[in-house]
Amino acid sequence: MMPKKSGIAAALITALVVALPTASPAQDATLAIVGGRLIDGYGGPPIHDSVVLISGNRITAVGTQNDIEVPSGVAVIDADGRTVMPGLIDLHVHFDILGHGNYDHWFETYESRMRSDVLPTAARIMLNAGVTSVRDLGTDIDNAFWLREQINSGAMPGPRTFIAGPFLRKTVTSFVSPDFVDTWVVESPADGRRKVRQLAGMGVDVIKTQDEALSREELAAIYDEAHKHGLRVATHLFSQRALRTALEAGIGQWDTIEHIGAGSQPRYPDDIVNMIIEQQVAMAPTIIAEEGLRQIYLNPELVHDPAWGALMPADIYADIRGSYANVQRHPLFNRAVLHRESKMMKLRQLYQAGANFIVASDSGSRANPHHNAASREIHFLVKEVGLTPMEAIMAATRWAAVVLQKQNELGTITEGKLADIIVIDGDPLEYPGDLRHVIHVIKDGVQIR
Ligand SMILES: [Zn+2]
Repeated sequence: MMPKKSGIAAALITALVVALPTASPAQDATLAIVGGRLIDGYGGPPIHDSVVLISGNRITAVGTQNDIEVPSGVAVIDADGRTVMPGLIDLHVHFDILGHGNYDHWFETYESRMRSDVLPTAARIMLNAGVTSVRDLGTDIDNAFWLREQINSGAMPGPRTFIAGPFLRKTVTSFVSPDFVDTWVVESPADGRRKVRQLAGMGVDVIKTQDEALSREELAAIYDEAHKHGLRVATHLFSQRALRTALEAGIGQWDTIEHIGAGSQPRYPDDIVNMIIEQQVAMAPTIIAEEGLRQIYLNPELVHDPAWGALMPADIYADIRGSYANVQRHPLFNRAVLHRESKMMKLRQLYQAGANFIVASDSGSRANPHHNAASREIHFLVKEVGLTPMEAIMAATRWAAVVLQKQNELGTITEGKLADIIVIDGDPLEYPGDLRHVIHVIKDGVQIR
């Protein structure tokens, strides 16, 4: 009997020794999310009764309650009956506006309260809504860098922040007020290259062009210089002519076209669709940015939603609410209504042709408050464009991380990635609108909510 017993003991010791390295993630765990249905962001079937272990700011183990033991003493988030998924990534937000209907009034009134109220409010609301990474495409560059530093240093809660800095434009037009500080005028192709180099040196994460008057040569120079610096480009445009120019100028793989689908024509010509597919440009439809006004017209109670004002100074919310007293008189209301169906038709055309879609809500723009911009954009991508709920979720997680060039760190729930995770009340694969019901937010391994 003795030899056999010691044989078992030896085997146990060997098993323990062998098991030690794989046991260490559990031993180091600082947080466990236990029991939910996990959508990991890769598009495969969800994992039921899931366990996610986090150590510090990293995910260390992902599996089920059958194969992962939650070590005793670890802080546990009970996700039983909920959905666990990667934090949302919104590739088009504005920290410096909070959904007010009148930009002239807004900047006149709140320029002096940007750092004290506006930027922290936008950051807090988006993070609270489960948006753990954003790409800001408009905030004044000094304010944007300041905010990014505040968030990164932990001084202020907010999503991971990627910054475009100033719009590169050919002209300063009425679209942006003449004293708008964050427009840089491009004089020539060489000047475009110089300004991209300057922005790259300042530490921006993306280059934004915002002008249909930039020539093909100027755009080509801007795109080429941005790509040489490892930066992606976000190009804002509305007309079909400008879209063709941007494509011919070489807008490239996982660069984005902001507001794609705008305009009254119901279809894009084949050559434009073919270039979009061949160049693998990502589509950033910002549906809710144009749809927001119409939604308030259909349902004025949206402006009274307590969630809009919940995390912002009361006087600012009262001012925003007042700006929608007559929404059908808003200068952009008619466009929102008249161009709606033609935009959706073009987006469906692009989706059916196989174009890449990402979530870019234009969060903070008029009638488009931060507390539900990303979830509403996802809703319309499913309801109107035809993406499956899983595709729309991936457009806000895995593929958005690819656009940010952070796919090795963000966008999916897998061992080694940064722990940006949300817990949703409901089933967003069946009801994408459930993404509004965020129960828990974990960013960088820290439970925010
Ligand atoms: Zn925008």
